[in-house]
Amino acid sequence: MNYKQALEYLYSQLPMFHRVGAAAYKADLNNTIALCNLLNHPYQSFKSIHIAGTNGKGSVSHFIASILQESGLKVGLYTSPHLKDFRERIKINGKMIPETYVVNFINKYQNEFERIQPSFFETTVGMAFQYFKEEKVDIAVIETGLGGRLDSTNIISPLLSVITNIGYDHTNLLGNTIEEIAKGVEKKIKVNKYITCDTCNGTGAKGGNAHRTCSTCRGTGHVTRITNTILGQMQSTSTCPECGGEGQIITDKCNTCFGNGIIKGEEVINLNIPAGVTEGMQLSLGGKGNSAARGGVAGDLIVVIEEVIHPELKREGNNLLYDHFISFPEAALGTSIEIPTIEGKVRIKIDAGTQSGKVLRLKGKGLPSINSYGKGDLLVNINVWTPKSLSKEEKAILEKLDKSENFIPRPTSSDKSFFDRMKEYFS
Ligand SMILES: [Zn+2]
Ligand SMILES: [Zn+2]
Repeated sequence: MNYKQALEYLYSQLPMFHRVGAAAYKADLNNTIALCNLLNHPYQSFKSIHIAGTNGKGSVSHFIASILQESGLKVGLYTSPHLKDFRERIKINGKMIPETYVVNFINKYQNEFERIQPSFFETTVGMAFQYFKEEKVDIAVIETGLGGRLDSTNIISPLLSVITNIGYDHTNLLGNTIEEIAKGVEKKIKVNKYITCDTCNGTGAKGGNAHRTCSTCRGTGHVTRITNTILGQMQSTSTCPECGGEGQIITDKCNTCFGNGIIKGEEVINLNIPAGVTEGMQLSLGGKGNSAARGGVAGDLIVVIEEVIHPELKREGNNLLYDHFISFPEAALGTSIEIPTIEGKVRIKIDAGTQSGKVLRLKGKGLPSINSYGKGDLLVNINVWTPKSLSKEEKAILEKLDKSENFIPRPTSSDKSFFDRMKEYFS
């Protein structure tokens, strides 16, 4: 296995992309725990700092890691997502995890992964922890993934937890069927989140006006201090300690939101999902996340796309695959079969003398590409069904046929082998 293959395994073999139903987002930490048992709890071998929150997690993680590194420590850093190279996610003193480590890790545990079925995130976290343990880091800075109670990074017992508080994003997982992916879809989703308090219009003050301008900063939210030094006057500006930078002080708090300006509620949001989306893709809706306290800037709504497995059609990039079985007489005599497509059923002709393993290509019946024009195809794989048991009579007929000249296999170059067909259809 080389590095490219190891990455392909991570991306495509693991349940985040390849699974049945809506199992990608696990409702518990069991997989993470099973994985940590397998790796013998590597996170217990190093001290850690956990960074959670919404916006700014990544920068805070990098700041802290670089401060610790500057003070002479060997610092592990786990962040997500990555921009160019998967290895950006796992670093020690600013250096990415070596390709060979990624390859060896996957190689070593591949069999156990088949049993545990960890997600992409869980495997990556496990790899990071193992690497930090083996490299004997002094401390590791760990950024949460999607966050929340079920995030796989929660397994650590950090020295310090940092929750960044810039914006209030809200993440929703959304299931999409193949039909929806083909056409793109507009969906209404109900999001439980913090919304602006109606009673006080988000001001947090009773009746919307029970507040006064802060006298310390005169409503500006910041204070400027001028000090005389030998070099002249120095001016420094900082957030007003009296009002916390808001410029207003609430004299009587709103009873509905207790002065916060936001309450728990729900909003129905119209979401346009473009055609051709893939599993794990994230759509971000600016300002549709949680409202912020007392008129602050609302966070974004991040929607993670999940693909709902189609009962009959399998997705392979933009192509769709369909397996169909015909009987031996149908293959010899020719027939017509019904094929499910995204636009409904279509009937196609099977020529007399069709071989098992023939692939019929229905051009343009696949999925559109999200980045470019054009559509994939629907590939119908024809299998000839061989009966598993025979009556005495059937046996007698077949034994008679077996003697016939026409029944002796004589493949010509037009009867392509399995390998040639694969080359042709997936190149
Ligand atoms: Zn003030
Ligand atoms: Zn209120």
